Amino acid sequence: MNTLKERFKNLIYPPLSFRRGSADYFLLRKVIMLNTFFILGIFAFSLFAFIHIFFIHNYFIAFIDTVAFCVFLYLYLDLRHNNNLKKAATVGLLMLSLFMFTFVYFNHNSSFGLIWTIFVPIFAISQFKPKIGLAISLVYYLFLFTFLFYGVLFWNETSWDITSFLRLFVASILLTLVYFAIEQSFEKVSTQLKKLTNTDTLTSLFNRRKIDKIIEEKFHEYERYGTNLSIAILDIDDFKMINDKYGHIIGDTVLKEFAHLLMSNSRKTDAVGRWGGEEFIIIMPNTTLEQAILNMQRLMTKLASHDFMHVKTFTCSVGVCQANTDLNTVDKLFQCADNALYNSKRNGKNQISSNQ
Ligand code: GH3
Ligand code: MG
Ligand code: MG
Repeated sequence: MNTLKERFKNLIYPPLSFRRGSADYFLLRKVIMLNTFFILGIFAFSLFAFIHIFFIHNYFIAFIDTVAFCVFLYLYLDLRHNNNLKKAATVGLLMLSLFMFTFVYFNHNSSFGLIWTIFVPIFAISQFKPKIGLAISLVYYLFLFTFLFYGVLFWNETSWDITSFLRLFVASILLTLVYFAIEQSFEKVSTQLKKLTNTDTLTSLFNRRKIDKIIEEKFHEYERYGTNLSIAILDIDDFKMINDKYGHIIGDTVLKEFAHLLMSNSRKTDAVGRWGGEEFIIIMPNTTLEQAILNMQRLMTKLASHDFMHVKTFTCSVGVCQANTDLNTVDKLFQCADNALYNSKRNGKNQISSNQ
């Protein structure tokens, strides 16, 4: 039982490489939903094709089912292989809509077949941004219900009249709106969750987890394209004394104010994070060691002239390093900046050291 469950999980969960370090649960959920959708499609359409060939003997519908089966199989394998969500969602939506219109065109409402039409909006809203999905759904319904109204006038079906048309119309629109509301709220929660998992609650800077992820990415760019990459670790001098003198709460506000100072003096492309306690880190992509040192000197000048709310002024020590052929791993780069910071402290604090 357990292995069956595991096997099913392996089928619908994205490969590990995609999940590793990803805090984007909204994206993860989309992949799981797409995989589930495609797998259900593969099973359903093979079953429909079988039934239409051997029991109902409607070979045209069986042909459509077989085409849909092949498309879903292709989409599933392609998504697993390439992780191209946009392509899977767009082609999936087009195929599903095309299938739906062909099906409705030939099947009318025979055996209440129109009930299937609700799947297009569910697919669209779950796979695109909810608002875009809703807009797609409304356009889809405009075409669908125009055609179905034509059906009320011209199809010779006992199960399809103006009452059934209105029922399906109202139920479809309501269900779509309810689903839209659910997805919309889920997207909000997911965005908040993503922010929470990536930020330090006290200072609102990136937390260590996010910094680890960013440095991995930037280091990869450095290795691949040879771009410059520098980092700086900053540590407030004698922070313990601030805490002892003014108390922890004021200590906290100092950390917040310092974080704000760091943010307002960094470039948009830099990533500023709290490394822990009163230690901070700045990742500076496309920055040479000389530029990084200059940036830090500018920051130290700002810090010296800044009037902090309770404690007036304090200093910090900095260690700066640039990735190079010796510092060829993330760990070595961190270690270098940490050693440089240690040198700054040992040589009397309130200064910048580097691996120059
Ligand atoms: P140095 O110049 O050598 O860095 O000395 P220091 O006093 O800054 O460093 P030390 O490591 O001795 O002390 C760091 C202090 O930072 C101790 C700890 O209580 C305080 N601290 C760590 N995290 C927080 C926090 O979130 N809020 C407050 N208020 N204090 C914190
Ligand atoms: Mg300190
Ligand atoms: Mg420290």
